[in-house]
Amino acid sequence: MISFNLDLDGQGGPLTTPNRSSPDPAAEVPDAGDLRLRYYPDPVLAQRCRPLGAPGPAAQACIQRMFELMYEHQGIGLAAPQVGWNARVFVANVDPDEPTTDAERVFIDPQVDPIADLREVAEEGCLSLPGIRLDVERTRSVRVRALGFDGEPFELETDDLLARCIQHENDHIDGILITARVSTLQRIAIRSDLRELKSQWDKQEGRT
Ligand code: ZN
Repeated sequence: MISFNLDLDGQGGPLTTPNRSSPDPAAEVPDAGDLRLRYYPDPVLAQRCRPLGAPGPAAQACIQRMFELMYEHQGIGLAAPQVGWNARVFVANVDPDEPTTDAERVFIDPQVDPIADLREVAEEGCLSLPGIRLDVERTRSVRVRALGFDGEPFELETDDLLARCIQHENDHIDGILITARVSTLQRIAIRSDLRELKSQWDKQEGRT
């Protein structure tokens, strides 16, 4: 299962948008023990998330918890809103056989830009949309500027699966799910699956 996200509003680095007319308030940091996987249609999945800045120990604990939950659910990427945290953060490891290596990546307050105009369609799943797979068109290669786990800025150019994963996760922190990235036909085809997910969510939240 692939849980994969575009933030095009910045001009400079990930946090260097000093002239924004209405800066987002900074993200709050929850208790890492409270994080759990959130499923469609949880409203947290539809929110544009807030910037975090360099993470302190509490935020780092949340990020570590995100990796745990990602591996537990066999994902290759996970965004903070997917665990109920409104923050511009996501993690990825597109080489899940190597869970503790350099393959683990943390993106905080990312700015993602396409490198070239080449686009590809591939099937994606999402940990917040269990059982649903959709053909999604994405840019083949991207450049990302973000802060890492240690709060240090970095820049990464990548393509293929990691680029797709980054675009999917970056969508999450803008409140966008893959269901918004596909054709009307595909959306019609999954209507009953979405209804089922909604009824499960209603039950879980004690709304029925
Ligand atoms: Zn996802």
